Amino acid sequence: MNAQGKLGIALVGLGEYSEKQLAPALQETNHCYLAAIVTGTPGKVDKWKGKYKIPDKNIYNYKSFDAIKENPDIDIVYIVLPNALHAEYVIRAARAGKHVICEKPMAITVEECDQMITACEEAGVMLSLGYRLHFEPYNLEMMRLGKEKPFGNWLSITAENGIQGTSGWRLDKSLAGGGPLMDLGIYCVQGCRYTTGMEPIAVTAKEAAKTDPEKFRSVEEGLSWVMEFPDNIKAACTTSYSKEMNKLRAEAENGWAELGPAYEYSGIKGQSSQGKMEFPEINQQAKQMDDFAQAIKDKRPSPVPGEMGRQDVIILQAIYKAMATGQRIEIG
Ligand code: NDP
Repeated sequence: MNAQGKLGIALVGLGEYSEKQLAPALQETNHCYLAAIVTGTPGKVDKWKGKYKIPDKNIYNYKSFDAIKENPDIDIVYIVLPNALHAEYVIRAARAGKHVICEKPMAITVEECDQMITACEEAGVMLSLGYRLHFEPYNLEMMRLGKEKPFGNWLSITAENGIQGTSGWRLDKSLAGGGPLMDLGIYCVQGCRYTTGMEPIAVTAKEAAKTDPEKFRSVEEGLSWVMEFPDNIKAACTTSYSKEMNKLRAEAENGWAELGPAYEYSGIKGQSSQGKMEFPEINQQAKQMDDFAQAIKDKRPSPVPGEMGRQDVIILQAIYKAMATGQRIEIG
């Protein structure tokens, strides 16, 4: 904690998300600040050091990472690495006695999620996920509508999240764990879970035909799936690396509500059968990180804990199983 009472965050992995979203957001936070960086690319250090005034003693690489244990400037470690590396670094951060935020998806297997949760429990540190939309007013409104039911019970949901084009580790199954489902479809799974406040009980899925089998040789290019929720609510979802889509829509007995775009960092818009939704624009990442810092200070649970990330990985794995087998897969 610094003199102003802010908790120190170490960003691990200085890629796009750290550079363009998290570090700028940490200039707007009230309860935490950017204290340290961990990078495997020495060429990035000078720029970060200069821009954010990070002292040399708070700069680490992946080999020296465990020495953060001795550094009282670091209270929270934020893992922003390719998906397959999340488990190792969350566990190492926990063993160094630091609270952890892990980016989505939590890991590429449920077993890894279990190990991460256990490591944090054993170390007595808190674990949360980078689920920024739980702090975003339009998505919070979908949660409220699901809870308070002003339109009656939900009947069905449509969730779509896709982008045109991707590259690098996201096309490599060994680092990403899968294709757009792991990266973008997870927002649809989340959207359906928090809009209904329920857990899916079964899933069916179908892979989209590949337009570029060479580029997408190790991961799917696109995928559609249907999640069955209690009360006969069905959620039809689609994700893709070759089509722009960004929507969350729920139909109820006496009305409907829709966000589009639903999952962006800013510019989210919403409407319902009662009219246009109007909420202030906020910095999602700043809110998310501040909430975790406050949760640590107040010794209260995070609204986006490791268990929530684990449940998403269970669902993602069931969707892949349904896709591979063509069968309806029940989710225990
Ligand atoms: P990038 O590819 O832009 O950055 C990943 C960084 O990880 C690299 O720059 C590198 O940083 C480090 N790294 C370490 N080992 C490897 C490796 N073997 N291959 C590639 N990079 C490596 O990815 P993003 O920043 O877009 O994504 C990182 C994580 O954040 C992912 O889990 C992703 O799902 C999540 N994410 C979440 C978002 C959200 O809205 N919540 C949005 C975007 C991403 P260095 O050179 O410093 O070592």
